[in-house]
Amino acid sequence: MAPHPSTLLEPHTPPAVTTEPHVIVRGEGLTVWDREGRSYLDATSGMLCTNLGYSQPRLVRAAARQMAELPFFASFAHRTSDVALALADDLARLAPLPMGRTFFANSGAEANDSAFKLAWYYHQCLGRHDRFKILSQERGYHGTTVAAGSATGLDFIHRGFGLPLPSYIQVPCPDPHSALRQGLTEDDFVDRLVDHLERLIAAEGPDTIAAFIAEPILGAGGVIIPPSTYYPRVQEVLARHDILFILDEVVTGFGRTGAMFATTEFDLSPDLITVAKGLSSAYAPISAVLVGRRIMNTIADGSRAIGAFGHGFTYSGHPVAAAVAREALAIVVEEDIPGHVRETAPALMKALADAFHGKDFVRDVRGHGFLAAVTFLTGSGGRQEGEWGSQVMAKAVARGLLVRAVGDTIIVAPPLISTAEQIETMVALLENAYRSALAETDSAR
Ligand code: PMP
Repeated sequence: MAPHPSTLLEPHTPPAVTTEPHVIVRGEGLTVWDREGRSYLDATSGMLCTNLGYSQPRLVRAAARQMAELPFFASFAHRTSDVALALADDLARLAPLPMGRTFFANSGAEANDSAFKLAWYYHQCLGRHDRFKILSQERGYHGTTVAAGSATGLDFIHRGFGLPLPSYIQVPCPDPHSALRQGLTEDDFVDRLVDHLERLIAAEGPDTIAAFIAEPILGAGGVIIPPSTYYPRVQEVLARHDILFILDEVVTGFGRTGAMFATTEFDLSPDLITVAKGLSSAYAPISAVLVGRRIMNTIADGSRAIGAFGHGFTYSGHPVAAAVAREALAIVVEEDIPGHVRETAPALMKALADAFHGKDFVRDVRGHGFLAAVTFLTGSGGRQEGEWGSQVMAKAVARGLLVRAVGDTIIVAPPLISTAEQIETMVALLENAYRSALAETDSAR
């Protein structure tokens, strides 16, 4: 077997790969450059996270200042740093739920693991000793740690690891497209999903279920926008059984949907909210669980019997990450990033619709805020499943545009500072990539 060309074990990459990785060396605004000097417009905001673009000078200065002042101090055993406290205060002011307190971690997956533990701990505090099951959705994405990976509803995250763990149960994906496929109205589709949830809870026993986790819009699963009545009805079922509702706003938080939080926009009442990515615009690894007041009060009271909350990380509330996050939040508020997204999103949707709606081999175009997607008809044009996605993505990269393919879906999620003109340029490059793939279909297939 040919040797691997580097010493890096690359995430989400086949270990047997023998080609050189694509190496990025610099970023500025919406553009990154590779080692060969080629430039790329980044239409995926890194991994849906560099919301404020690359080389934002205020974020760079905030990191440098904090590095010089206090590069590290742990939040541990009732000692913490001023900047971790201040960031928790900032989040308490912005939070879209009646706030208790904020718990810090370093990644989306760690935040979700922490939310599960908070849910378990909450039920323990109430003497409910059998509440450990976690419900989530097929095609939901919550990270790849053992727990968050178990809640993630994507086969490629489970394969080879014996996941999901037995106490993680997935419910059907609220994808409006599957309603269409089954010939159901949206209302009938939601009825079925809610009925499935009710029956699942009855069969498992409500006293065995701790929490339900979901994204407001399923991002990495392929930009799936659930029908508007779905979450309000799910919430009502969960509340009846005191199954905690964890809303994963790791992608949607801090402006991507055109609101500071999707929670407010969709009028949801989660018990716990997880955030990451846009919290620091990805300039430093930091994530958080926003713990609602009701949950926090129960935990604070009930913990007297259990003892300390035995959970946390060396880098929980890391001062440099916290300082960067404080500055990122200040920019999001001062520049009204959610307002800019709300105003500019129609230009993104129009450009995508003009380029793709009703075109050959295109299933549909959809989006909300700066989170959009084009899905090609799987198996069409003589292609295997996933081939449309990988081909259009490769051709986009060759044209200087970074997009992400999930199966036959291309995700378009520009940095939140993008102007309408910049977005139109991104979509024009994507359309050009699609037309090139189309030309190969006509000539070669
Ligand atoms: N939740 C959602 C909705 C995500 O999209 C992601 C990452 N794509 C995660 C959680 C996990 O975040 P991380 O990769 O930082 O663990």
